[in-house]
Amino acid sequence: MTSRFALVGYSRTSQARMAGTPRHLGSNHPAIFSSSPEASMKSAPDLIASELRLGAHNYEPLDVVLTRGRGVWVWDTEDNKYLDCLAAYSAVNQGHCHPRIMDAMVNQASRLTLTSRAFRNDQLALLYEDLAQLTGSHKILPMNSGAEAVESAIKAVRKWGYEVRGVPENRAEIIVASNNFHGRTIGIVGFSTDPTARKGFGPFAPGFNVVPFGDFDALQQAVNPNTVAFLVEPIQGEAGVIIPPQGYFRQVRDLCTSLGVTLILDEIQTGLGRTGKLLAEEHEGIEADVTLIGKALSGGFYPVSAVLSNLEVLGVLKPGEHGSTFGGNPLAAAIAREALKVLVEENLIDNSARLGSYFLEQLCGIDSPAIKEVRGRGLMLAIELHPEAGGARPLIDSLKDRGVLAKDTHEDTIRIAPPLVITKDEVDWALEQFATVLTTV
Ligand SMILES: *Cc1c(COP(=O)(O)O)cnc(C)c1O
Repeated sequence: MTSRFALVGYSRTSQARMAGTPRHLGSNHPAIFSSSPEASMKSAPDLIASELRLGAHNYEPLDVVLTRGRGVWVWDTEDNKYLDCLAAYSAVNQGHCHPRIMDAMVNQASRLTLTSRAFRNDQLALLYEDLAQLTGSHKILPMNSGAEAVESAIKAVRKWGYEVRGVPENRAEIIVASNNFHGRTIGIVGFSTDPTARKGFGPFAPGFNVVPFGDFDALQQAVNPNTVAFLVEPIQGEAGVIIPPQGYFRQVRDLCTSLGVTLILDEIQTGLGRTGKLLAEEHEGIEADVTLIGKALSGGFYPVSAVLSNLEVLGVLKPGEHGSTFGGNPLAAAIAREALKVLVEENLIDNSARLGSYFLEQLCGIDSPAIKEVRGRGLMLAIELHPEAGGARPLIDSLKDRGVLAKDTHEDTIRIAPPLVITKDEVDWALEQFATVLTTV
């Protein structure tokens, strides 16, 4: 019963102790778990209250408690039905609980789930083959979360800089874009330009330079002999679906090629059909040297990410220099393979292109004084409101009441990114809700 930290008074359980309740959760385990079937019958307000009391408050979710999903639809604990216009930040491109991906998961889960990379498994090579064939990549590194893929690419490209480019040790520099979003690890938030993401979390790792997104001249001026990479999103998702000027990435590609700088495209959100192409780089007719994917590689089932690389960059990694207990496990590999197959075989990429342009065109036709700009590519869309319109959050709440779940970003922008399995009828229904909400503000 005595905690190892009890003497200093800062143990994890110290608050419970002050309140006079048993301080050691362990002693209550049988009671906690025997009551768990009823936990699923708790009311939504009770579940929300528990979350607020026990959970870290690093999110501010809408008060809708979801309990099941199918395709583009999700249901809350009161059985209200909603069209999901966020798709877990594009991790559920294939739709909720896709039956084929679920079968692949259950099948693999009943055979073998995790071996660690100390041994080989019979699924990983198949995922490598599928990814190589689909994207033309020469070397692949499997990880779990998107942020890990980003971190892994940073490690590999620095080492490449020293070993292949001859940059003096510890001097490698990576250029990133303003308003970037590459994840939440300490390494990554260190080169974020969002004060909320950074403030209070320093000190940060050196070696990163920020240039304005979409500004080719600024990039050209920032490159120096120690620059090993430019890490950038093809379209900035979290920043509010920001599309760079036409031709920007062609210039970026040419500059990187001529100076031997690795172009790393973070396609964790834009990739795998979201923008109407398999990879968003195709809109610009370019190829990155290193491409990061994640999110929809999971089919929404299980975190899987990957670094897709030319031979050189991932080629510098040797045994022991990088790894992950769960990276490349057979369950993840089987799920990711099926998630890719569904994307291709169900023509979800074409659907994204077709219904995305229709959605955009129809949104542009909504006559509302609140709208400043509508933009998007494929089914990655955003409505930016005028600053005087009172912010996006009230609209998000009205949309929720009308059965549409969407997400505000940066106060004035509503992001729309439904699963790519959406049908034209469902788009039309969603448009009605958006039109109603936007014309009654
Ligand atoms: C979501 C996202 C990440 C981080 O992915 P996690 O799985 O949340 O770590 C990185 N880059 C981009 C562009 C993203 O949208």
